[in-house]
Amino acid sequence: MDHRKSKQPRQQPPLPLASLEASARTSETPYRLLVEQQTDLIVQVDPEGRFLFVSPGYCETFDKREDELIGQRFMPLVHPDDRAETEAAMATLAYPPHRCYLEQRAMTRDGWRWFGWSDAAVLDEHGQVTAIIGAGRDIHEQKLAQLQLLQTQRMLELALESGGIGTYTADFSTGEVFVDERYLAQLGYAPGEVGITYDWWRANVHPKDLAGFADQTEQVMFGGLDDFTAEYRFRHRDGHWVWIQDHARVYDRDPDGIALAASGLRIDITRRKEAELQLAYHAEHDPLTDLLNRRGMWRAIRSIQAQSQRGKRPHAIAILDLDFFKRINDEHGHLAGDQLLQRIATLLCDNTREADWIARWGGEEFLILMPDTNLTQARGFIERLRQQIETTRFLIDDRTLRITVSAGLAAARLDADDSQDALVSRADNALYAAKTAGRNRVYTEADLNAGADSNAD
Ligand code: GH3
Ligand code: MG
Ligand code: MG
Repeated sequence: MDHRKSKQPRQQPPLPLASLEASARTSETPYRLLVEQQTDLIVQVDPEGRFLFVSPGYCETFDKREDELIGQRFMPLVHPDDRAETEAAMATLAYPPHRCYLEQRAMTRDGWRWFGWSDAAVLDEHGQVTAIIGAGRDIHEQKLAQLQLLQTQRMLELALESGGIGTYTADFSTGEVFVDERYLAQLGYAPGEVGITYDWWRANVHPKDLAGFADQTEQVMFGGLDDFTAEYRFRHRDGHWVWIQDHARVYDRDPDGIALAASGLRIDITRRKEAELQLAYHAEHDPLTDLLNRRGMWRAIRSIQAQSQRGKRPHAIAILDLDFFKRINDEHGHLAGDQLLQRIATLLCDNTREADWIARWGGEEFLILMPDTNLTQARGFIERLRQQIETTRFLIDDRTLRITVSAGLAAARLDADDSQDALVSRADNALYAAKTAGRNRVYTEADLNAGADSNAD
């Protein structure tokens, strides 16, 4: 660009942006008045970026006199980090539409501040840029707020992404639910693959879990409760269940208090849930035999006793203790002993009813809880088990092992307020009697009371 050609005399009119073409045809006076009265910043620079005109507002903002600025380049006032971008934006002015918008920081009398500049090129009859007119506005507060918001959005996005958190917004008036990609990804769907509605959501929650928070849903939709929190299983695209932790908040209600809209977060907690279930399982099961342990059995006894008392139906327990088990260890080793315990556990499982509960009650002791069973039935039942064990040849490490078992039985007393401890203690006493009477036999608490030995061989 020719410098001489672009260097315009001082009295050339600064042109408001909107009427570049009109400027050629009209007098400068009304425009000059307009420019000088407004607080926005108006400048005109030559193609090299030297000031040809600066509005009073500009002088005031930068705390400089007009004569200090005219002929000087504007770029030194621009923040070094914003210069390249400013340069690039200005370069586009040589091409249609010969306008650009740019944001930059400049050193004002109050320090660095953000400005938004709308620039337009003035062209000669050959289409060459002869000057650039810029209208600037202080956007500092707005820009800082915008940067802050952007920062917050980035943090939120990072949090959602690293937590694998899906988000949704439900519009209850239409039933539509707007979800993000992470929500869909948790369930194996690609974006746009499924249209999500409130009814679709309900249909895909595990029925058992849906019932668990029915009251809460009712209160959130129609009552005063704004927050909904639940952990539930949700059907994955493949059909399996995914554990979801859901936290939503209602943010709009109609005048009757009925929820109109809510937003929520969903986290896939399947791994945590499975770990919890695993932990709960191990807390109540014996690792060697996979049977219930004592703790698990106490819980089962409590729950069966409560059912039993409600339904006035009897239940019985049997404590089985392997006879002379110590000899197995001594003769064949502890590992063979362990295997035998596992085989006995399998035998017990295979030869009891679905409704019965079996625990490893101690080292070589087992407890069988039999719901809906009276003492006579239980005795027949356990006697068959005793015979089964006696006649089984357990093949362990190429050796055939044989073992017998003694058992003590007791039945819950429905009329008196029988305790679980007392029930177990009566079965224990019967077991002790069976042992002292010679082992490999089944004794009941009735046998104890009668002082009889009805079951002895
Ligand atoms: P009794 O007929 O009087 O019941 O004789 P017993 O030898 O079975 O009874 P005792 O109480 O003297 O010994 C129980 C044995 O069970 C001793 C113990 O080493 C063994 N035992 C307990 N737990 C385990 C286990 O987990 N694995 C193995 N291999 N042995 C166990
Ligand atoms: Mg024992
Ligand atoms: Mg024993």
